[in-house]
Parts: sequence; C-alpha cells; structure tokens
Amino acid sequence: MDITRATDTPSRRGNPDWFTGTVWQDPIVDPPAPARARAARVAFEPGARTAWHTHPLGQTLHIVHGVGRVQALGGPVREVRAGDTVVIPPNEKHWHGASPTHGMVHIAIHEFDGEKHVTWMEKVTDADYAVEPSR
Ligand code: MN
Repeated sequence: MDITRATDTPSRRGNPDWFTGTVWQDPIVDPPAPARARAARVAFEPGARTAWHTHPLGQTLHIVHGVGRVQALGGPVREVRAGDTVVIPPNEKHWHGASPTHGMVHIAIHEFDGEKHVTWMEKVTDADYAVEPSR
C-alpha cells in the first residue's frame, strides 16, 4: 500500500496546445501495471475548455464543483453541474469545460490501454462554445 501526499505532485497547468483558457490538473492515480485506472482532478476557470479529443477506452467525468459544458460531435452542447456524471464511449469525439460565467471542477477517470490516453484534435471555437446549452 502506498499513500500519495497532496504535496507530492504540484498542480500542472493545462497545455495551451490542447486547452483554451486556464486549466489546472492534479493527478489522483497513475498506478503501476497491471492496474489500468487513471484519474485526475481538473479545474477549469470560466470560459476554459479542452480541445476536441477522443479516448481509446472512453472516459468518465464526475463534476465536483461549479457549472460546465460538454459536447459530443454531432450532439448538442449540454450543461453539467456538481454531482453530474458524464460517460463518454471509446473513441467518441468530444470536449468538456467550464461555463462562460462559472468555473467547473471534475474528476476525470479513464483506463490506459498501454499506448494512448487521449488523441488531441482542433480547438473548440468561440462560436461553437457560445451555443446555448441544453440540460
Ligand atoms: Mn475527454
């Protein structure tokens, strides 16, 4: 058994190639093989969001704070709030982020297939982000 302390790993700024706005990432678990589960806490300031991307084995997002937006390619922009859980299937193109007026924090969980965690694509444009969300 191993305990990782809060002070062991500094918060990481989201890479501006893959994120719009200010995003902070704090790893939760990145265990040695054969374990596959990976989790991180990710905090988005208002207006911040990921670029479009896919995960080879899918991803689960659990919103722990604030108000956010998520969208799968071809679907509506959806509003999510603290307590909501979003399940994204393998290889579904999507993005996630804060609302324009409220920050959002989620726990992001995925399984690592041994090769890739994520495939990054183009940024979400301001016009696409500004679409009025549905619940
Ligand atoms: Mn994702």
